[in-house]
Amino acid sequence: QEQFTQHTQCTTCPYCGVGCGVDITVTNGEVSGVKGSSEHPANLGKLCVKGTHLADTTLPQDRVLTASVAGTDVSVDEALDEVASRFANIIAEHGPDAVAFYVSGQILTEDYYVANKLMKGFIGSANIDTNSRLCMSSAVAGYKRAFGSDTVPCCYEDLSEAKLLVLVGSNAAWTHPILYQRMQAAKQADPSVQVIVIDPRQNATCDLADIHLPIKAGTDIALFNGLLCYLAEQEYLDHDYIAQRTEQFTTALQAATEYDVDSVAHTCGVTATAIRDFYERFAVTPKTVTFYSQGVNQSSQGVDKCNAIINCHLATGRLGQPGMGPFSITGQPNAMGGREVGGLANMLAAHMDIDNAQHRQWVQTFWDAPTIPTKMGLKAVDLFANIATGKVKAVWVMATNPVVSLPNRNQIEEALAACDCVVVSECYTRNDTLAFADIVLPATTWSEKNGTVTNSERCISRQRGVVVPPGQTRHDWELICGVAQRMGYADAFAYTNVAQIFAEHAALSGYHNGGDDPLRDFDISGLSDLSETQYDQLSPIRWPVNTTHPYGTQRMFADGRFFTPSGKAQFVPVAHKALVEPPQNDYPFILNSGRLRDQWHTMTRTSRSATLANHQQAPNVALNPQDIKDLNLTSSDWVIIRSRYGHITVPFTADPGIRPGSCFVPIHWTQQTAPSANVSRCYSSRVDPISGQPESKFVSVKLTPL
Ligand code: SF4
Repeated sequence: QEQFTQHTQCTTCPYCGVGCGVDITVTNGEVSGVKGSSEHPANLGKLCVKGTHLADTTLPQDRVLTASVAGTDVSVDEALDEVASRFANIIAEHGPDAVAFYVSGQILTEDYYVANKLMKGFIGSANIDTNSRLCMSSAVAGYKRAFGSDTVPCCYEDLSEAKLLVLVGSNAAWTHPILYQRMQAAKQADPSVQVIVIDPRQNATCDLADIHLPIKAGTDIALFNGLLCYLAEQEYLDHDYIAQRTEQFTTALQAATEYDVDSVAHTCGVTATAIRDFYERFAVTPKTVTFYSQGVNQSSQGVDKCNAIINCHLATGRLGQPGMGPFSITGQPNAMGGREVGGLANMLAAHMDIDNAQHRQWVQTFWDAPTIPTKMGLKAVDLFANIATGKVKAVWVMATNPVVSLPNRNQIEEALAACDCVVVSECYTRNDTLAFADIVLPATTWSEKNGTVTNSERCISRQRGVVVPPGQTRHDWELICGVAQRMGYADAFAYTNVAQIFAEHAALSGYHNGGDDPLRDFDISGLSDLSETQYDQLSPIRWPVNTTHPYGTQRMFADGRFFTPSGKAQFVPVAHKALVEPPQNDYPFILNSGRLRDQWHTMTRTSRSATLANHQQAPNVALNPQDIKDLNLTSSDWVIIRSRYGHITVPFTADPGIRPGSCFVPIHWTQQTAPSANVSRCYSSRVDPISGQPESKFVSVKLTPL
């Protein structure tokens, strides 16, 4: 007779960047229940609907359970042999830049760390990029320009302490629900707390707003330059902070002087009264948090938009103190962890820089690596363009679905179809990218994997493996190390558990080769000596964690010192630019896209829950009722949405919250779940010139009835 077993462990939700703690119960080896962990500081016992239904998604159906090469099932070891020999042959013939990894904010920090180490220190290329490029790379570049480092200054408690919450390009009610609930609770506790939502679309978050500013797409810089100008004209500047803690204020203000209230109102398409109302509320409320997300980042001017926001906080000294700061919220569960290990093509490791010779030498020495790249690698969109031209001949895609999520799906499909060697490590069969794989590696997933993630407030939490991985599945770090060992790097990748990888990562973060480096923000050297048991029991902790901050760090820049050479924050002069592809003539509508409340990314996991699917069963396009009338659409019509790059066909729904001349399509549906509705087909490959982040919130389209 089988013995009944049951136990509960604390882990972290695998979805959004809030990073909620989840108590997961396992009965007889299967996940039988989840609830919010009251011990975790991110959510204090709460979960949103996606987290609540995590147990539904752990069912065994639709898992990738075996490895394959050219469509034939093989053992994982045989598949790893094949990956290693194909990568080695291509590198030998064409050099290290002929191969690439395209990874994901879904993998854990330890997976990310070994992938980055293999590519940068041992293969010798910086061609490792990530789907986090699509999520927050503009925010990273904005912080680095302003603070000299990729440092999120705020913490979640600031959302409860602020008296004014300005949400820009964020539908937090659906995309970061637990943070939205925090804001809701703050407003309920103190009705004088004000909420301003800045978004072209009247989204669910507007339910909490005192003011909604439905600005035209792409006009955020005009709005925040106008605010900077208003603060100066109305004498709301913090002159002491500007003089003592910052540089380049005059230049930034000069760049903003043409943005008076009337011209901003004209550019943004809202009334001067509404603009002035927002400016005055911001001006008189020291405890202001500006909370921004993909609506700001996913733009060909995303970095400048971030700096326009940060400039206003620097000008008023609203940084580093409770209840204030420019707070970028990441979309993915481990976008931040990926940044920490350097899993972006333009970063090294532990927030060190590729173009800094000292940093290169430290990382190479620490890894005892044969090589280190001296120039940045290819960012996501460029990476796939180089696959299309044949410069990159082998790519390993890990835990992501670029055919669906990258812009201009038609080009991505052509690139992968032409690539000599496409390796996909994946856990679910509902991934369109698998159709292009020469080699498939079966990967473990949430509830099976072990490691750490870092959420939007720099908090490192454990994800814990609580059930036995099914079939041939292996952890991503094991697959990567398996290939590294077969390529001849056995000593450097001889890890036997994730605690060893984490300890190395933590030690590298504090490694200065005997020197003193005051320009580093990311330092978790205080966690480098954890035993395996201590690592297993690690409680959530916000970095830096070192001798100065042994218990972690709630809030950054409290001392007014930044990670720039002068120690001062930098204002960045920015200017509003007209849209590259304005809506006109043949393409008169603006297409916007985003998440739904109950789905995640390309639905490989969330589509497994019938309850989550009930929120919205099928894709559609939301249109303003006046546009529906003007287009003569009848209720049974489907609409062809056609851009210069591709088209999709979906039914429509009326939404008075959509600006006339705009439309909104959810990002989630794929070739497998709704063959005509993958919105990435419509997007151009246009990116921000600094961050490389694609412009996924805007493309001009025409709409016609099917
Ligand atoms: Fe998971 Fe995000 Fe929901 Fe928290 S808010 S339960 S992290 S999806």
